[in-house]
Amino acid sequence: MSKKLFENTKLAFELKSNNSLRKSLFLFSIIKYPLIVKLGSILMRLFLKLKLPVTPIIKNLLFDQFCVGLNEKESMMTVKKLSKFNLKSILHYHVEGYESEKSFDECHENTIKTIKSASKNDNVPFTVFKPTGLGSLELFHKIAQGLILNENDKSQLERVEKRFDSCFQACEKYGVKILVDSEESWIQPGVDILVEKFMIKYNKEDALIYNTVQMYLKYKIKYLQHLLSCSKKKLFVPGIKIVRGAYMEKERLRAKRLGYDDPICKNKFETDKNFNNALQFLVKNLKYFNVIVGSHNEESSYLLMDLMKRNKIKSNNKNIWFAQLYGMSDQISFNIANLGYNVCKLLPYGPVEEVIPYLIRRAEENSSVRGQSSRELDLIKKEFKRRRINS
Ligand SMILES: Cc1cc2nc3c(=O)[nH]c(=O)nc-3n(C[C@H](O)[C@H](O)[C@H](O)COP(=O)(O)OP(=O)(O)OC[C@H]3O[C@@H](n4cnc5c(N)ncnc54)[C@H](O)[C@@H]3O)c2cc1C
Repeated sequence: MSKKLFENTKLAFELKSNNSLRKSLFLFSIIKYPLIVKLGSILMRLFLKLKLPVTPIIKNLLFDQFCVGLNEKESMMTVKKLSKFNLKSILHYHVEGYESEKSFDECHENTIKTIKSASKNDNVPFTVFKPTGLGSLELFHKIAQGLILNENDKSQLERVEKRFDSCFQACEKYGVKILVDSEESWIQPGVDILVEKFMIKYNKEDALIYNTVQMYLKYKIKYLQHLLSCSKKKLFVPGIKIVRGAYMEKERLRAKRLGYDDPICKNKFETDKNFNNALQFLVKNLKYFNVIVGSHNEESSYLLMDLMKRNKIKSNNKNIWFAQLYGMSDQISFNIANLGYNVCKLLPYGPVEEVIPYLIRRAEENSSVRGQSSRELDLIKKEFKRRRINS
């Protein structure tokens, strides 16, 4: 595979007008500085708490880069545009940080609505939800620790299971697949227990439900081996979204504060090695898995294409998908979709105030010297040059 593939900025930015490219250039130029991102996120949270009218600024600057709309109707316009480039979409009504039963019910209703909208459009094969949008973090944590649940916990768990089950039932009924986002390592085992229980029920011939595996965690290859053995025993067909992982700082801080072994690989090189080993493992065992690879890393994307070729797996094999987040790494998404691979963009939508934690995570991921920003900036500048216009 030619390593020049991702240099094709004409295709990567075909949907971007000069003005929207200028806006992206401005955004990536400021979020490349970690200090600005840190300060900005503190101010953003403070201003919203004080109910200062900052929503329009956040919407214009960050939201429009990383989210596709305030509601599903707006999101569908992006779905349509992407479909012209052989790109499918994952619709995500994005809320997080909720802690009341009422908000879990609201999130559940919105997820069902998203599943129904997805079913009306062949270009939306997947939807997604975040476990802590449907149930409390404390509950997942208790399950993860194997603690005995009291009566209140038990009734909470019953409601969480009902919400999960009703989402999966709707997916089965409407023919839409669903991804379950991963959370922090100390609650994830609680999520895994629940998701596996439902995989037994719904992932019989094929995967309807995809669980997420974060490869920055040292021990995750073992988890993939466990899933392989479940698949070989015909307990269920594991659906897997593999990612590197988005909560590194939080994970390291907690491990240090509570004095346990840091669960994250000791450096980026080790995470990359773990992630790429997982790719090899999954491609080699593809007949036992349904896989989505969520990454903006160009080397891993080249590696995956290469592994598929070496293992004689067709580019459009329905069991393997590439995925990138909206607003990031279009050079990967557009160029590999153009070669006929299965690629989808994850499209978050929702009220601006509700997606703030997501926007902050995206800004943080793009900051730092080795972060994504410099690559995005280089590509945008290259495209300005190609269009022969000034940035
Ligand atoms: C479609 C999609 C869905 C996603 N869903 C989830 C999800 O459900 N849960 C979730 O947690 N994340 C999710 N992510 C985010 C993902 O985990 C990564 O944070 C993000 O994609 C950046 O990693 P990368 O593979 O793109 O590549 P890169 O930019 O090459 O890698 C950056 C990542 O490497 C790791 N890393 C960086 N520095 C170090 C270091 N010093 N030591 C060890 N590791 C390091 C971190 O995981 C960091 O995020 C998703 C991403 C995509 C594209």
